[in-house]
Amino acid sequence: MNDLKTRGTYFKLRVLDDEQAPVCHYDGREVINLASNNYLGLCNHPKLREAALAATVKYGVGSGAVRTIAGTMRIHMELEEKIAAFKGVEACVVFQSGFAANAGTVSSILGKEDFILSDELNHASIIDGARLSRAKIKVFRHKDVGHAEELLKELADEPGRKLVITDGVFSMDGDIGPVGELSDLCERYGAIMMVDDAHASGVLGRNGRGSVDHFGATAKVDVQVGTLSKAIGALGGYVCGTKDLIEFLYHRARPFLFSTSHPPSVAATCIAAFDLLEAEPERIERLWANTAYFKEQLASVGFDVGGVSTPKSETPITPIILGDGRKTMEFSKALFEAGVMATGIAFPTVPEGKARIRTIMTSEHTRPQIDRALEVIAGTAKGIGIL
Ligand SMILES: *Cc1c(COP(=O)(O)O)cnc(C)c1O
Repeated sequence: MNDLKTRGTYFKLRVLDDEQAPVCHYDGREVINLASNNYLGLCNHPKLREAALAATVKYGVGSGAVRTIAGTMRIHMELEEKIAAFKGVEACVVFQSGFAANAGTVSSILGKEDFILSDELNHASIIDGARLSRAKIKVFRHKDVGHAEELLKELADEPGRKLVITDGVFSMDGDIGPVGELSDLCERYGAIMMVDDAHASGVLGRNGRGSVDHFGATAKVDVQVGTLSKAIGALGGYVCGTKDLIEFLYHRARPFLFSTSHPPSVAATCIAAFDLLEAEPERIERLWANTAYFKEQLASVGFDVGGVSTPKSETPITPIILGDGRKTMEFSKALFEAGVMATGIAFPTVPEGKARIRTIMTSEHTRPQIDRALEVIAGTAKGIGIL
């Protein structure tokens, strides 16, 4: 802790006093919120609230057991069927979180004789899953399909399974993984292809079906992970694939076997959210229009929004790269005091020397809110000498 304080990266949790919304109160201060993953404003959509309340009245607040013992409610099955149909796959299993979905899946489908080929910027839950599996971990350079192929060639004579895994959208840089090319590679080399679509669920692809749909690669991706905690607005993670894969996970994925299932309200909320993705695609259009405008304006005042020393964002996640951890935390604090919530992210969440303010646009930010945020960001940056 002392070390963190010396480096200037020690933090206190900011506490939200009201709802997750474009303008809300943290620690008693009104701010324009550029820090949430509430891409489509579903965290507090009236239809989702109603669904949660109705399920609570009808089925109570808890499921009472893990899925495999007595805690599989009909509404859990309905949600899994709904997601499988939405994604155009045979089957789906829902986990308590995206973290549990990744860690539980990777660790159960691989063993110590197997290999995992993982992008260097993949999410922590994939890394933990890989370690728990005891498979041999090979890391390829960020989005470098050629490097992944070299590694697959080197392993050609090894008897173990090979799993290639990438994030669909990388959470700290906002760039899109080469899902199409990697899945072609997997076909050629007989490897298993897995995609973690946490930040692409509800954001990319037709009606938010994700990066795999965006690349037209549904038939080639064996394991699709998504989250229910970000654009979907509630909580949870899911895995989509063949019936065999899902049945296997029912029998072997440890978070599924050893941790209690969602309250019925969460399942009901998520079902309502998928209905909304189908019924209100204009939310996703607004998200992308806001994103384009915000990025353009940020770059035009001279910020490094990626693409120089870091990957270039292609999604509603737009980092403002400062490099230095202490400066980043100071900038974030000054922004907060000026009325903009944009979290500073430093080592170990991102590599040393790549500290940044991460901003996330949503469909619900209005043009005046975005303009005001831009004004505050530029003014504050000039005030502390970083622009
Ligand atoms: C957020 C995130 C997760 C975890 O999802 P939760 O549902 O919040 O547990 C997994 N992978 C990536 C890439 C993420 O950004």
